[in-house]
Amino acid sequence: MANKHYDVAVIGSGPGGYVAAIRAAQLGAKVAIVEKQYLGGTCLNVGCIPSKAMLHVAEVLHSMDTVGDLGIELAQPPTFNMSKAVAFKDKVVKRMTSGVGSLMKANNIEVYDGLGTVDASRTVSVQKEDGSHEEFEADKVILATGSVPLIPPMPGVDGRNVINSDTCWNLPSVPESIICVGGGVIGIELACMFSAIGSKVTVLEMLPNILAPVDEEVRRLLVRILTKRGINIVTNARVESIEDDGEQKKVKTTSDKGEQTFNGEYVLMAVSRRANTMGLEHLIEQGLDMDRGRVRVNEKMETNLPGIYAIGDLTKGAGLAHVASTEGETAADNAMGHESHMNYDVVPNPIYTFPEIAFVGLNEAQAKEKDPEARVERFPWAAIGKAVAIGETDGFTKVIRGKYGEILGAHIIGPDATNLISEFSIAMHGELTVDEIIDTIHPHPTLSEGIREAILTVEGRPIHIGPKQPARAR
Ligand code: FAD
Ligand code: NAD
Repeated sequence: MANKHYDVAVIGSGPGGYVAAIRAAQLGAKVAIVEKQYLGGTCLNVGCIPSKAMLHVAEVLHSMDTVGDLGIELAQPPTFNMSKAVAFKDKVVKRMTSGVGSLMKANNIEVYDGLGTVDASRTVSVQKEDGSHEEFEADKVILATGSVPLIPPMPGVDGRNVINSDTCWNLPSVPESIICVGGGVIGIELACMFSAIGSKVTVLEMLPNILAPVDEEVRRLLVRILTKRGINIVTNARVESIEDDGEQKKVKTTSDKGEQTFNGEYVLMAVSRRANTMGLEHLIEQGLDMDRGRVRVNEKMETNLPGIYAIGDLTKGAGLAHVASTEGETAADNAMGHESHMNYDVVPNPIYTFPEIAFVGLNEAQAKEKDPEARVERFPWAAIGKAVAIGETDGFTKVIRGKYGEILGAHIIGPDATNLISEFSIAMHGELTVDEIIDTIHPHPTLSEGIREAILTVEGRPIHIGPKQPARAR
């Protein structure tokens, strides 16, 4: 019989769960959070944060190729020490995850270390590593158990040197070569990272294109840049099996053109993620409504079971940390009696390749279908002083404007795209028109001027490219 009682219990402490817990505590709830493995979840431990730390290392190393142009002469070619880079990444992860621990304390949230199992009466049982159990009850439960790498049932997928985004962060040395299976966000970000630290990289993607949701022109430019850098991107290549070939791995693909094989020291599986329903077995037996392996929720993040909410990668979700966090806040608001609804109209998508990519809203085809009068223009980074000054002139900002002057979508490839996209997100969320952004003074010299210029361009009045000259996208 449970003797402890909480207003809100959160299962899983990723960016969905820990944010939900904090929001509920802010609203006066007595909150418990249960975590079976690591505070901060996938994002802080094996996802967003370690990947961005390693991408930062890789980008700094990549920038060494051009420091000679800046008058910086390195006495000798730079060398790369993998174990020091991994130690840097570990320090970043530790700092961020201990930060979550401190936030839990600061908000009086009780942390239970162990596997949480939940039933429909909202009794939570925590199984600890030492074999002991604890049990408590909660008025409201927020399920935030996230996702794990999808490992397809493919011959050789569990073999030597076959890694995934949970297991790729502590390699002893730089792989001489690596094959990324899947040209989605994980495959391409990690391809960029491994290539910059010295691996020979091949990406195998079964679809006709990598990064399927990315704007066609943006993708074409990225593929051109990555290919020039030596990354071999092979599309229409479905990986069927992996096997040992001496010290190497051999990957077999099929396509219209028949079978092909590719060799590499490592194989990175990046073929998507699946919802993690560990600990939710009772709930599923008791009728928790599921949709293709994910928990079905409404716009208040309520499941079909009273008092039980679900958020983040466990739900149909976007597979994005910031969406998980917003869903966490929404679920906590509703759990505490403040009605709140999720709205997915404006979800920024950041991709940390170099150059970076970010987009929000509709793509060109979707926009033209919604509004045949929609206008599309691009403005190149090569015409922005700050971009030229920092030597980052590849790419452009593409704006899609609706007939009332509203922004329907924006796509950026270039320096700091993942930060700059927020200006478009705010404009779209606040229903600003292009005139309102144009009337806002942007500081000089900054990359943000590129955003205003892209909007001027879609209005047919760019300042820093000629009036008749179409903006050069590439
Ligand atoms: P998770 O972060 O997966 O957390 C779930 C937590 O629940 C885990 O800690 C797990 O141990 C715990 N748990 C599960 N079951 C139980 C149980 N029964 N009891 C107790 N605890 C349990 N997103 C971005 O927005 N930007 C990025 O740059 C980005 N980069 C990424 C890079 C990589 C390599 C990967 C893999 C993902 C990346 N993502 C990124 C996606 C992002 O990590 C996820 O969308 C996000 O972590 C989802 O958050 P969540 O809270 O739903 O779940
Ligand atoms: P994904 O679904 O984005 O891409 C997987 C790719 O693998 C697809 O293009 C698919 O066609 C391909 N594929 C599947 N089976 C294959 C096979 N047998 N052979 C060849 N190709 C195959 O999944 P992901 O890249 O694993 O990312 C998972 C999640 O993590 C996504 O939801 C993503 O949003 C999130 N994430 C986000 C960021 C970011 O926001 N910057 C970074 C990393 C991950």
